[in-house]
Amino acid sequence: SVFAGPNHLVIFHMNDTHAHVWGTEDGGGFARAATLINQAREEVAKEGGAVLFLHAGDVNTGIPESDQLDAVPDFLALHYMGLDAMVLGNHEFDKPFEVLEKQYEVAQFPFLGANFVDEKHGGPIFEPYIIKDYGDFSVGIIGLVTEQTKVLEPIYLGENTIVDAEETLKKYLPIVQEKADVVIVLGHLGYYADGRRPYLPVEFTTSDELAENISGVDIIIDGHTHTLLETPVVINNVIVAQAGDNAENIGRIDLWIDDGRIVDWRGEVIPLTSDIPEDPFIKMFTDAFYQLGSEALNEVVEETKVYLDGEHARSDETNLSNLITDSMIWKTGADVALMNGGGIRASIEAGDITYRDILTVLPFGNTLYILELTGKDIMDVLNYAAKIPDGQGAKLHVAGLTAEIKGGKATNVKINGEPIDLNRTYKVVTNNYMASGGDGYTMLAGKPGYDTYFRDADALREYIAHLGTIEDYTSQERLIELDQ
Ligand code: ATP
Ligand code: ZN
Repeated sequence: SVFAGPNHLVIFHMNDTHAHVWGTEDGGGFARAATLINQAREEVAKEGGAVLFLHAGDVNTGIPESDQLDAVPDFLALHYMGLDAMVLGNHEFDKPFEVLEKQYEVAQFPFLGANFVDEKHGGPIFEPYIIKDYGDFSVGIIGLVTEQTKVLEPIYLGENTIVDAEETLKKYLPIVQEKADVVIVLGHLGYYADGRRPYLPVEFTTSDELAENISGVDIIIDGHTHTLLETPVVINNVIVAQAGDNAENIGRIDLWIDDGRIVDWRGEVIPLTSDIPEDPFIKMFTDAFYQLGSEALNEVVEETKVYLDGEHARSDETNLSNLITDSMIWKTGADVALMNGGGIRASIEAGDITYRDILTVLPFGNTLYILELTGKDIMDVLNYAAKIPDGQGAKLHVAGLTAEIKGGKATNVKINGEPIDLNRTYKVVTNNYMASGGDGYTMLAGKPGYDTYFRDADALREYIAHLGTIEDYTSQERLIELDQ
């Protein structure tokens, strides 16, 4: 290098942006992030350094205008922002695999996932790692996907699966160390050092445990838990960073590298405050996409006089959870409806209800799935649900059925007012997510049934239109918890 002293590498990282490509007047958004990245590119160019921009997964799902357009605005913006690579987040599997392939074509940057493999042959589906060669030094980036995806988003994995992240890293690490001076794990794994581990029937690798157990990795850039680490945490000499969510912040790590070794570093998370100007090009074309996504969503479906509560759907039965499960029965004529509280993603304020509001509550594009279950099968579902602690996405909501929950068991179960018959077959409606074993409802996977291919959000929209103005929707308890 013509420049004296160590080389400067600036790493920018975002994670869990969840369709939040557009900022608001209060800040956030990709156009503000682009401004900071471009500024840094100009600065380091003068001193002979480089900028690396990474996304730690979950680009998809969260804002209806983007969801309607399969997150094409997000991937295109990241492309023009010069993203070097992303790792696949679990929400990249919210839609069929063809959608991910389309996103890959739009993005034209690597979708890393060393442990996202073909079930039969074990080979990676996308790139396991990349090497960035900056002349004076090189950086290797290995992508690791959370094993939780197998439980959280099982529907569209198909013939592909997620294998053990730590074991996979052990396999690739020597190869990458051979080729690169600095080794980065780009993980959508989750940081659980603060103790909040979800209750899930799958073994999974976390970023903090990975740092603890593995040597040879310099930095773990993480996502999935939406954790805002204002400065990176150092665990076992590994720098672990995560930058919140929803494009409200961008992480920045500055490295100084001499003779292939990191000799100094500093890290921070920069809030994308409103005083940061929006990059005009990114803003211009993403705004045009917003218009496009927006038109269909503004249609007013009905009016509600009351607040429809989605906020507490992981701990309580609410008027909105009852409305949703009732819409499922209304649409399909099933005896019983089953819905996971974690699938209810927002509340609806009193006032006009637009299609946008409904898609914000039910953003996954899930379809209604009919299952033939015996009374005994239904008891298995209820007894699993009875053991789920409050606050988990797996919290069960029902219609057509009442039961008492005590000591982790369901008793006094009635279907349409009649005591459950263990040998009878009932028609049960759920979403395709739960039907394929999502949220640990593995007892449902493989049961006889069929997909109606009818969107849950559309069933809710039609049901609300059918009800007319919602004066009140009293939440009448169906799964009555006797423990409290
Ligand atoms: P992350 O971005 O970290 O994955 P998240 O918001 O999805 O964030 P949680 O808030 O823990 O993570 O939500 C996970 C819960 O979301 C699951 O337990 C499940 O209840 C629900 N969920 C996830 N994907 C789907 C889906 N496709 N359909 C229905 N519910 C889903
Ligand atoms: Zn995630």
